[in-house]
Amino acid sequence: MAISRRDLLVGAGCSLAGGFHIGSLGASGLQARIFDAAIVGGGTAGLPTAIFAALSGADVLVIEKTSNLGGTLLLSTGQIAGSETVFQQRAGIADSPDEHYADVMRINQNTSDPSLTRLTVDNAGATINWLADHGFEILPGHPVTGIGHDHFRVARYLQGVNNGISILQAFLPTFRALVNKGKITVLTESEVVELLQEKSGKVLGVLVKDASDKIKEYRASNTVLASGGCAANARMFEELHDVPLYTQAAYPASTGSGILLGLSAGGYVWGREKYAALPGLVALDNNYPSPMQAWAPLNAKKRKPWEVLVNSEGERFVQEDHPSAHHLELELLRQKGHRHWAIFDSNILRR
Ligand SMILES: Cc1cc2nc3c(=O)[nH]c(=O)nc-3n(C[C@H](O)[C@H](O)[C@H](O)COP(=O)(O)OP(=O)(O)OC[C@H]3O[C@@H](n4cnc5c(N)ncnc54)[C@H](O)[C@@H]3O)c2cc1C
Repeated sequence: MAISRRDLLVGAGCSLAGGFHIGSLGASGLQARIFDAAIVGGGTAGLPTAIFAALSGADVLVIEKTSNLGGTLLLSTGQIAGSETVFQQRAGIADSPDEHYADVMRINQNTSDPSLTRLTVDNAGATINWLADHGFEILPGHPVTGIGHDHFRVARYLQGVNNGISILQAFLPTFRALVNKGKITVLTESEVVELLQEKSGKVLGVLVKDASDKIKEYRASNTVLASGGCAANARMFEELHDVPLYTQAAYPASTGSGILLGLSAGGYVWGREKYAALPGLVALDNNYPSPMQAWAPLNAKKRKPWEVLVNSEGERFVQEDHPSAHHLELELLRQKGHRHWAIFDSNILRR
């Protein structure tokens, strides 16, 4: 379903949920065009990709499965870190990408990919500054050295006043302006189900299933897969990471379809072992993936650890009061199926 200028203007005035909902109009004429870029997914990665491609002069098509733009930003806490930001300058904090890189590697004990980490830290500050220029508002007292995980040595960690939605709100005016200028075309309630390929394997565009289950073909010189992860797809999650998906905490559209599309075009999955668990999610029941009942921050810096942690063999595997949250996170990754139990009494449960 294509979006008109009127729908976007109506959307701009809506409440939170409605603000990201996009209405529908016929998509006539689009199939005859060859776009410079077809972007699969209008979420955290897809929206800025569309913005920067369009600002560089590209004719962009964004295809989004749900009726809302924003993807996981609608759920995410949106905590980010970067050096040489305007927020650090205002607080008189000296920092650099090199110090950020060293801090990341110190905390993760050199387990993250060096080139990806470098790429991230070299661009993080400019990304945060772009957001700040576009109205991104952060929590009072931020940047800080950290929140849930191990802390940096320098205060470069920050969070928007409205979690991930603060980031989305910074994207949307520019995105809307580019739609109004005709530089970006958006299809919502439209799921990319297949890549259009010629015999040589070259990707020529996408096949899209619309809300009435009709399949349509859209052509583009470049196709970008920005359709998120697979943490709402228990089977694919377990196949990829070799760990059951214990809780449902992901954006429901994170079904991994972009991963399958990439594989279908000869791609491969890399870095599957790099995923980090978030310890302390209390599942509601044993029917995995289970709704999340609560979260117990197993972080000695945050609170006194009352519980004893044991693994599947009933053995303690971690020093519960270790001052590093990452110590627990790393030890947990070494446990079979990441399974562990926190043992505590009813008084502790109540508190
Ligand atoms: C509760 C929670 C808290 C988090 N907190 C943080 C945090 O503090 N800091 C941090 O850095 N990260 C955090 N994350 C992770 C971070 O939010 C995600 O990694 C990031 O938002 C993913 O961005 P993405 O663009 O890859 O996917 P998404 O933002 O999910 O975008 C993918 C889009 O593609 C669409 N889509 C999917 N399949 C198709 C298809 N076949 N055709 C068309 N469209 C499709 C989806 O509907 C979606 O809109 C958190 C995640 C969660 C769930």
